[in-house]
Amino acid sequence: MKVTVVGCTHAGTFAIKQILAEHPDAEVTVYEKNDNISFLSCGIALYLGGKVADPQGLFYSSPEELKSLGANVQMSHNVLAIDPDQKTVTVEDLSTHEQVTESYDKLVMTSGSWPIIPKIPGIDSDKVKLCKNWNHAQTLIEEAKGAKRITVIGAGYIGAELAEAYSTTGHDVTLIDAMDRVMPKYFDAEFTNVIEQDYRDNGVKLAMGETVQSFDQSGDALTITTDKGSYETDLAILCIGFRPNTALLKGKVDMAKNGAIITDDYMRSSNPDIFAAGDSAAVHYNPTHQNAYIPLATNAVRQGILVGKNLVKPTTKYMGTQSSSGLALYGRTIVSTGLTLAAAQQQGVSAEQVIVKDNYRPEFMPTTEPVLMSLVFDPDTRRILGGALMSKYDVSQSANTLSVCIQNENTIDDLAMVDMLFQPNFDRPFNYLNILAQAAQVKADSLAGVKA
Ligand SMILES: Cc1cc2nc3c(=O)[nH]c(=O)nc-3n(C[C@H](O)[C@H](O)[C@H](O)COP(=O)(O)OP(=O)(O)OC[C@H]3O[C@@H](n4cnc5c(N)ncnc54)[C@H](O)[C@@H]3O)c2cc1C
Repeated sequence: MKVTVVGCTHAGTFAIKQILAEHPDAEVTVYEKNDNISFLSCGIALYLGGKVADPQGLFYSSPEELKSLGANVQMSHNVLAIDPDQKTVTVEDLSTHEQVTESYDKLVMTSGSWPIIPKIPGIDSDKVKLCKNWNHAQTLIEEAKGAKRITVIGAGYIGAELAEAYSTTGHDVTLIDAMDRVMPKYFDAEFTNVIEQDYRDNGVKLAMGETVQSFDQSGDALTITTDKGSYETDLAILCIGFRPNTALLKGKVDMAKNGAIITDDYMRSSNPDIFAAGDSAAVHYNPTHQNAYIPLATNAVRQGILVGKNLVKPTTKYMGTQSSSGLALYGRTIVSTGLTLAAAQQQGVSAEQVIVKDNYRPEFMPTTEPVLMSLVFDPDTRRILGGALMSKYDVSQSANTLSVCIQNENTIDDLAMVDMLFQPNFDRPFNYLNILAQAAQVKADSLAGVKA
């Protein structure tokens, strides 16, 4: 069986390892246009902020490792065309520019995503940088050395992390976003008000609710003009989102509107010999039971493994995702999973919410920290749909607990009383998640009373 893999960062690496583990006789060829594999982009901000000193630790595999497992690894090879009827790929060796056409039995599309670059005048200035891969990380660290003023465009997770990182390395940072708050997709204003104050306290200038209209470079300086103001900067970084890299299969397999390949539960596209995983594919989003585009490494590695398991026959179903994610900004752990109330309302999902602040452990302990928590639930079925937590205490694993609750369709009543350990070092007789769900019960009961 000849298996061709297009692209090798996370989904590709995990798919190849699983394919070779399940099918040691498979002839697996991977084409990767870069000269490295498995780079953890989540480490870019840590590297820029100096928290990670050795960037080599951000790679967990290598072409040599995949070769040693039996893969034919073709680095610096760009796949130019895919012909699903003939079952061939045409590939260019980027060092010699030679092109070859090879056949396959199964194709694995793990070509990932690329940053969205809107058509804004001046955006092709070499002062406007992207943040996606290892090459970008190297550029950003080099350019930052000669740049005092850095402007980050896009206050999603990635922009939020970059702005924090550069503010801790002596740069004058401006964070611009067309939305009126940072990270509105993940957190309510009760959370983002605190996060925004942290930015201001650390010298970051926030330009929320501003849309970039143009970039004008004059010598070494770049002027960014928005609909409300203008900002002079030495370096701009564009972080406004990602688009799937799937043009090669356009019109050849079913895709979502943005080009994400739609797969079944076994990672098969609408063409049974073409599999897709990671940022090139849509995910099944459990809170709404719909397909969604959620480009995260968490999804990429899981889907990559499933390609390997299901390549020959469907055996292991995809569990879907809650889009659980987290970040650390200025000493706070900020995590979320599932739907926010606003997202639920936008998607026509019946939802209610409670927001609770409580100390994570008793006040008689030498120290404690407040935890700000949100729980979104369906008031009729009482199913948990989403949640968020923020604290100077490490509450990251609590988002994972909420993720399991959503996955398993648990209700607020389950979470209110589920057994959780008690010991004053860690929490109260009721863990703060129990307390959060108990507040949701009170709200749900009172709403039911009002309706009756
Ligand atoms: C700054 C940053 C921080 C992030 N932080 C997190 C985080 O904390 N947690 C998290 O879960 N996710 C995070 N992500 C998202 C995560 O990095 C992506 O979801 C993940 O990289 C997707 O992996 P992938 O293998 O599907 O796709 P990609 O990483 O996009 O890799 C696709 C690969 O395919 C190659 N390729 C594409 N087209 C071709 C072609 N025609 N021929 C040959 N090769 C090709 C590309 O060169 C690339 O190597 C972050 C992303 C960024 C940019």
